[in-house]
Amino acid sequence: MSNHSDLIILGGGCAGLSLGMNLANYGEASLRTLILEGRQEYTNDRTWCFWGGFGSGSEKLATHRWESFSIATAKDRITRSCKENPYLMVASKDFYQAAVGVIDKSSRINLKMESIVSGEVLKRGGLWHVETPMGVYTAPQIVDTRPKVPHFGHFEPLLWQSFLGEEITTEEEIFDPGCAELMDFSGSSSERILFLYVLPFSKKKALVEATVFGPEPLKAEDLEESFGVLVKQRLQGSPYSSGRKEHGILPMGAPPENRQTDPSYVRAGLMAGGARPSSGYAFQRIWKWSQECAIVLAKGRPPISHPQDPTIIRTMDALFLHVLYSRPELAPDLFFSLFSKVDPVRVARFMSDRASLADCLTIMASLPPVPFLSELAKTVGLSYGNRTKRGKKEKGA
Ligand SMILES: Cc1cc2nc3c(=O)[nH]c(=O)nc-3n(C[C@H](O)[C@H](O)[C@H](O)COP(=O)(O)OP(=O)(O)OC[C@H]3O[C@@H](n4cnc5c(N)ncnc54)[C@H](O)[C@@H]3O)c2cc1C
Repeated sequence: MSNHSDLIILGGGCAGLSLGMNLANYGEASLRTLILEGRQEYTNDRTWCFWGGFGSGSEKLATHRWESFSIATAKDRITRSCKENPYLMVASKDFYQAAVGVIDKSSRINLKMESIVSGEVLKRGGLWHVETPMGVYTAPQIVDTRPKVPHFGHFEPLLWQSFLGEEITTEEEIFDPGCAELMDFSGSSSERILFLYVLPFSKKKALVEATVFGPEPLKAEDLEESFGVLVKQRLQGSPYSSGRKEHGILPMGAPPENRQTDPSYVRAGLMAGGARPSSGYAFQRIWKWSQECAIVLAKGRPPISHPQDPTIIRTMDALFLHVLYSRPELAPDLFFSLFSKVDPVRVARFMSDRASLADCLTIMASLPPVPFLSELAKTVGLSYGNRTKRGKKEKGA
């Protein structure tokens, strides 16, 4: 096989494989693409959820759907129906399997596992040179989906979403398999935004996750104690057995503006604008980006990165994050207010980057104005959820 391609994708995770699948749709007309992935093999390492009902091609991969969801605080609980936009789940093993299947069938897309990209990717003679232990690969265009790219500097969002999840099986019938428990803040405190997230697969089996929104990313071991406490509380001490675990750290904030001047090299994925700043959700945004990127590449144009969100969404997300950052004790009531007062169809559209102006205004009206106005007053020239511009020190200032 030649070491030269039309395009190299660095990283074959959600973003790299999504782009590979969408490029494969062009058959023989597709660019000759090489995906370099560091892992030896794909495992069932994560569970992707998103609001469905918008006709996205990725919805086909969903294995679970919930047509209602609940939100709880220490004093209130609400269950809402979301039939129109069910909450869908894709197991990463199914996604990886589907992606590898599509890519294997394509004569134009090549996925190379165990190919850890090392060193800086440099352009010489009009071609990018990518080094791996297996050799040097060249292409005129690069899409870099690696979460950490040393020479691109460090992205420190305002908040991190850290979570530890486990599939558990209970002895008693405890869960309602029709209802996703999105946020249960019963264990939250005034200093820490902590909630339990439960995806029930049956009355006795669920994925349960302890999630923290905070200024520092947390390792799995940092979350174990909270996980134990929240699960015990949810199950009221009923015994359970543990299965597969997953841990995630997602940015909540927007990455610094891409200063890359060469349009033939773009970054994409979770740490490059793939994650929605106010929620950390990235799966659907990455899928949508991969479709759009494949279209422009097929037209012979340079690859694109994630588009900027509309100004109103950026402003709302930034304000929301700043309120969570400076007033974490308000989080349970803010989320409860949002989900209980606003029609779930509007919330689903808002969280899926499809909000109308009316959706945005309804959501704003559902939230208590005082903390938002006071944040707004503090923030002439509000940074978009990036801590480097509005430093930690301001918290106590
Ligand atoms: C446990 C978990 C649960 C999540 N749940 C949700 C959810 O419910 N909904 C949602 O919308 N989002 C969710 N996310 C967020 C987001 O959708 C995922 O993180 C998604 O996988 C991001 O895709 P990505 O391609 O940017 O990163 P990844 O999928 O992590 O892919 C990056 C790839 O690059 C490879 N790589 C890294 N460095 C190198 C190198 N030097 N050389 C070669 N390859 C390299 C990695 O091996 C990896 O395969 C979750 C994330 C996690 C971790």
